[in-house]
Amino acid sequence: MGKRFYVTVDDPGGLIQDLAIFERARRFFDQEAVPATFFVVPRGEGDWQLDRQPDWLAALQGAEADGHDCQLHGLDHKGCEFGPIPDMIVALGGDLEAGRQRYRDQYWHMWRPDAYRDKLQIAIGIFAAAFGRQPLCFRTGALSQEPVLYEVVADLGMKYVSNKVTDPRGWRYIIEQYDDPGDWDPEVPSQPYWLTDRVINLPIISEYAWYLTPEKIAPHLALAVEDMGRVYAEGDVFLLVCHVQCVGAEDGLSQELLRRLFRVARQEHDVTFETVRDLVQGIEEGSLPVLGK
Ligand SMILES: [Zn+2]
Repeated sequence: MGKRFYVTVDDPGGLIQDLAIFERARRFFDQEAVPATFFVVPRGEGDWQLDRQPDWLAALQGAEADGHDCQLHGLDHKGCEFGPIPDMIVALGGDLEAGRQRYRDQYWHMWRPDAYRDKLQIAIGIFAAAFGRQPLCFRTGALSQEPVLYEVVADLGMKYVSNKVTDPRGWRYIIEQYDDPGDWDPEVPSQPYWLTDRVINLPIISEYAWYLTPEKIAPHLALAVEDMGRVYAEGDVFLLVCHVQCVGAEDGLSQELLRRLFRVARQEHDVTFETVRDLVQGIEEGSLPVLGK
């Protein structure tokens, strides 16, 4: 079957509204001959809404026409809009317990299935108006989530999410916690798996390319290479997350890390780069397995 590599790129649209950043990221993936999957935020600050943004629609549809893919990322990408945020992300803001408490105080009243349903329905509606189709895969902003969200996702006819992380060390590395970063989350397999009886998670292995400095490239790349070897020992699917504001940044550092990682992937694992659309199609056709149920 061969190894496959999936690059998912979060936050273009309602969160990162600067189209020049998206275009820089897109050009990079074009140069690398890597089809990317953009997780697009449908709504954002300043009354921004994807289906009313002709320049963005042209850019995203043009990217899809050239082999890239677009899927759905949250609604407004504000705070904890689909439930609490995972600890590894809360910890980026400093003290973990204080951060948890702050988010809980601010957002607990929004953590209800009917609120999730309303928001997801609006998000799917905007996406469908923009692309003329339903999204295949949903990822929340900051990976906010709780179990009941996945019942809502399934009730609204969505089968795929990409919302749980196999290796949280990528986020520990962001705060330079290199000495005692832990290991993979034993509850999140590295390969696509049934998260509930109706929803499949396409696991995010990690994030390696978040706002780098030149000094960070070597350790973050080493983590990515290690993860890739471990993942491919278990299956054919390796899916990472990166962010458009980093890949499209003018410093080029995220691009440098990804370029080197793509080279290792091609040389050592002979990978094929595919999109989430391809991954879903492979699963639906039965050519890629889904673990557990
Ligand atoms: Zn995001």
